[in-house]
Amino acid sequence: MNISPGSNDFGEAVESDRAHVWHHLSQHKRYETSDPLVIIEGKGMRVWDANGREFLDAVSGGVWTVNVGYGRESIADAVREQLVKLNYFANSAGNVPGALFARRLIEKMPGMSRVYFSNSGSEANEKAYKIVRQISHNKHGGKKHKILYRERDYHGTTITALSSTGQNQRKDQYGPFTPGFVEVPHCMEYRSQYGPCDDYGVRAAKAIEDVILREGPDTIGAIVLEPITAGGGVITPPDGYWETVQDICRKYEILLHIDEVVCGLGRTGTWFGYQHYGIQPDIVTMAKGVASGYAAISCTVTTEDVFNQFKADPSDPMSYFRDISTFGGCAAGPAAALENMRIIEEENLLDNVTAMGEYLLTRFNELKDRHELIGDVRGKGLFCGIELVKDRETREPVHESITQAVVADCMANGVIIGATNRSFDAYNNTLCLSPALISTPKELDEIVDAIDNALERVAVD
Ligand code: PMP
Repeated sequence: MNISPGSNDFGEAVESDRAHVWHHLSQHKRYETSDPLVIIEGKGMRVWDANGREFLDAVSGGVWTVNVGYGRESIADAVREQLVKLNYFANSAGNVPGALFARRLIEKMPGMSRVYFSNSGSEANEKAYKIVRQISHNKHGGKKHKILYRERDYHGTTITALSSTGQNQRKDQYGPFTPGFVEVPHCMEYRSQYGPCDDYGVRAAKAIEDVILREGPDTIGAIVLEPITAGGGVITPPDGYWETVQDICRKYEILLHIDEVVCGLGRTGTWFGYQHYGIQPDIVTMAKGVASGYAAISCTVTTEDVFNQFKADPSDPMSYFRDISTFGGCAAGPAAALENMRIIEEENLLDNVTAMGEYLLTRFNELKDRHELIGDVRGKGLFCGIELVKDRETREPVHESITQAVVADCMANGVIIGATNRSFDAYNNTLCLSPALISTPKELDEIVDAIDNALERVAVD
């Protein structure tokens, strides 16, 4: 089917979608009275839907993924070339783009060494958990099996990834969960558990140590953390937080697993989010921006030290990592990832993210001066959150319906933005922005103006 924006060729696609597709995260009742959104084309930062509407996409494919923008022919060409040459062979063998991409990736991650391929962020995290559990069995008689995760962080949709997620409403109705995952407090300065204080970062990190001591350090194998919490409200870490977390991990021999599924590959102006904070993780997972959505690929990256524990005893047939994923690392993914990385380098996109990120934060802070509804503006690079409150003094969050009204108003006016949504009990009140790494002031102004106008209209209503 050759469909183009504005034509009538896609009526069949919309009706087939309404009749047969079960959309992610969607209540389908509403499609009885309105058309489901069917996106048919994208170019740069814009997409078009089946009804011919044009949108500026301020969240890179809805879920912070299409980092280098839509319509990149060179990525499509690289994938096509690879598919014609070799579409698939199981990843117990290597392939050329996989090997080359692994090397290029490790060059961007000093201290890291090995890349394990899979297909999604959830899967990459599950691999990391299995690595931690197997080390616990091999080295600690199975005792150091617990994995800590943080309130508000998200690590995926499969039952175990969800077991390690700190967002209650996402988990509601899907239990029982995988045992051995223990929640630690968040590190959100704007909603400090300790009231205003100068050493919030250190205190928030020490709260993790309290949990470690309560559970028993010799029972805890790892902690998984987002460098900047994404879907939980774009929560940038307070000063002193990461250094203290790293010290605590070293002190109790707990592996530090950083989930870079959102921040990885340039979103915050460095290759990886953790690189802003001078820390050295043991395990890093990544997915969305690895190939900007041109192919499904995710990676679990470890240090050589972690890797070496899986070849420690050649006489033990059970000592290797007994994990497989049929499509993990199949050649189209790394072929797309290699070209995606080349584009980020050739077009100097990390520098662009830093410059445009500062511009966007400045513009959002101007909005804060004019809209009482905005309680907090935060972000790093092209990754921003705008937290909406009823009252700046009490910081009481607005009702979710207000957040959704702003999102809907922007959408009606041609700009797609995101929001924390039905993940928490009380905090569905943050607008989330992650425009493509190729953003220019022109697109960012358009995004800011749409939010400005939406806040104006929502405040009046
Ligand atoms: N970790 C983080 C931080 C994420 O934001 C997500 C997805 N939003 C995941 C893991 C899971 O990735 P996927 O949806 O590809 O399984």
